[in-house]
Amino acid sequence: MSKVSMASVWLAGLVCVSVGTATAQSPTFDIYWVDVEGGAATLVVSPSGESLLVDTGWGTDDDRDAKRIVAAATEAGLTKIDYLVITHYHADHVGGLEALAEMIPIERCLDHGTNTEESNQRWVDAYLAVCRDKRTAIESGETVPFGPVDIDIIASDNRLISATVNGGGPNPLCATAERKTQASPENQRSVGALFTYGRFTFLDLGDLNWAKEIELSCPVNKVGEVTVYQTSRHGAFDDAGAPTHLYAIKPQVVVVNNGPRKGLGGTSPGFTEVSTAHYDRIARTPGIEGIWQAHRSLLDPEPTHNTAEDMIANLGETAEDGGHWIRASVNQDGTFTVTNGRNGFSRSYRAR
Ligand SMILES: [Zn+2]
Repeated sequence: MSKVSMASVWLAGLVCVSVGTATAQSPTFDIYWVDVEGGAATLVVSPSGESLLVDTGWGTDDDRDAKRIVAAATEAGLTKIDYLVITHYHADHVGGLEALAEMIPIERCLDHGTNTEESNQRWVDAYLAVCRDKRTAIESGETVPFGPVDIDIIASDNRLISATVNGGGPNPLCATAERKTQASPENQRSVGALFTYGRFTFLDLGDLNWAKEIELSCPVNKVGEVTVYQTSRHGAFDDAGAPTHLYAIKPQVVVVNNGPRKGLGGTSPGFTEVSTAHYDRIARTPGIEGIWQAHRSLLDPEPTHNTAEDMIANLGETAEDGGHWIRASVNQDGTFTVTNGRNGFSRSYRAR
């Protein structure tokens, strides 16, 4: 991205900077992107107080990610998790669950089913050890009750919604779509969800990959245009972030849930060369107003391949970082403020 267009991205955020403060007293729809260093743990809190956690990060000897999730839950004033969604059975999405369940009550669990490859079976077993008696397989097209926030399940177990939602329609970008072969089968089974609060929408598709994104976006973009998009595959955009998909959903704000050496700027299975194109692709999104990152990419630390430092929650290697979150607080009128938990830096936006 050129310096000129980067300046316009920054300016777009600054222009609206005072918008969110007027209604800051009323309950907000809050989204915390917990830093799990290249995986996912996204905590969503309805204005009605209900909570939903999408994924639990990694399991480590020191229970790093479970502790970080609990810290975010505490920040949000929660004493339990109402819904846990496990998008798919990979270590970076379900690894932290057993430790987390020891730290905070989890009421209900939602998943794509318990089918997977043999290589992932240990993660199904780990999931069932916590969720066996309170789990439900959820299908695309279903909804989850969440106070004033609508949750549409977009994808689950390799199947996508059949009808369009959120004003979706024909996608002219499909004519020149670059197609790629399917990568990891388990990624393709990811549960994906669209959260809607008034004009504001948030799309989280887990690790849904390129081929599945094309299926979701062609010939019809089934999810319409969204306000905030969490990068699939943690921003490893050689097998996710297909331009045909990304430029059709036209997110105003993108949150990259990458680690210092995973996701953005890194490789995906089947790819060997580190790409420098990932950030650039996000920055070229039509109408983009802000890009936030969980980490500076140390695989590709070039400043023009990362967002502004104030909008990066963690800057160094694992041991140096505090595991800071990024939070979006959304008001009923569609204005929202994104905050960096490391330095308190924030920007306000207005959902189109
Ligand atoms: Zn992942």
